[in-house]
Amino acid sequence: MFLDTEVVLSIIEEFEKGKPIMMPIYPSAVYEFQREEDEFEILWSKESGYRYGRWGNPTVRALEKKIAQLERCEEGLSFSSGMGAITSTLFALLNAGDSMLIMKEVYGDTLVFVKDFLPKCGIKVYVYSIEEREEIEELIDKGEIGLLYLESPTNPTLRVIDIKNLTVKAKKKGIKVVVDNTFATPINQRPRLFGADVIIHSATKYLCGHNDTMGGVVVGNRDDISKIWNVRRIFGNLLGPFDAYLVLRGIKTLALRVKKQNESAMELARWLEKHPKVKRVFYPGLESHPDHEIAKAQMDGFGGMVAFDIDTTADGAAFFMDSLQLIKRAPSLGAVESLATRPAFTSHRNLSREEKERLGITETLIRLSVGIENLEDLKNDIDRALRDV
Ligand code: PLP
Repeated sequence: MFLDTEVVLSIIEEFEKGKPIMMPIYPSAVYEFQREEDEFEILWSKESGYRYGRWGNPTVRALEKKIAQLERCEEGLSFSSGMGAITSTLFALLNAGDSMLIMKEVYGDTLVFVKDFLPKCGIKVYVYSIEEREEIEELIDKGEIGLLYLESPTNPTLRVIDIKNLTVKAKKKGIKVVVDNTFATPINQRPRLFGADVIIHSATKYLCGHNDTMGGVVVGNRDDISKIWNVRRIFGNLLGPFDAYLVLRGIKTLALRVKKQNESAMELARWLEKHPKVKRVFYPGLESHPDHEIAKAQMDGFGGMVAFDIDTTADGAAFFMDSLQLIKRAPSLGAVESLATRPAFTSHRNLSREEKERLGITETLIRLSVGIENLEDLKNDIDRALRDV
């Protein structure tokens, strides 16, 4: 063989003795076959195997299997972002003439997609507030919708939807139930056990946990996942192997991180509730939270997100934000670093004043994603910033 051929060929060594503990990163965009027939089997009989990077990748596959296992589902798929997972799932599971129901408290860009994009494909979208329980149950009982989309807990006031109750009703009418489980993680909540069909995550948040990659994951039964795979193959929005590796690595400490975040958030919420400069605290673990009983029945932990309303003006809240020294001012959540944001000016800035008021999203509301730092340091940072307000 000539050198200019040799440089092109990779040497992939077999592991005769000793197997890597970590899933290796496979950056291969193309896969070769011993016989042409082997490729045809993948193409025609849908045999599992790898053929082309847009169809699948072994490192990415390891992540998909892992999340499917954690969420107690058969199969999984991963995407280049949480929005990639959400848009591809809804596009795959709905057809022209179908209708779906969603709550307006879901993640903002999810709502933009279902309200602005799905109707263009002939899909009818019913949007209700989580407060409109009777109307929601009535629509489900009528059985006129094909898909129910839930997200719990919600952002930023951490309302908890009774997933089990709504799923049981929906399944009786043959309605497909899709749940965004990003805020809870499979450590705190496993919607499949309540009968949900498809579970979605923004892997950018807790699954990765280190603010260093974007990703999305969808898990469910083989049939649904195969429909979603067809969309991903055409849209070409799957996760890359390097990002899959980072999420796989993050998942090794998911339980440890989430348990610590649950504990710290619970303690911070209790402490904030007694703080003289705080008007109101939103945390599902508090007895004062409107959905505390549902959260207790549905979740193994109440999560690492806390929101609190400061007893001050909008300027005072801005001063509080800028006075934080340890907690970072940043718009994401779910990682090892504690992050704070003011939803009225960031994630929920496009809502009308009335709508924000109705949802409790005031200009003085702070959303905190609790990290894994020492709790006393977090309290000291918040206390000092509050003292100066
Ligand atoms: N779902 C929830 C609950 C989110 O908070 C987000 C992003 O903040 C998404 C989905 C979208 O995820 P990504 O930003 O990875 O596209």
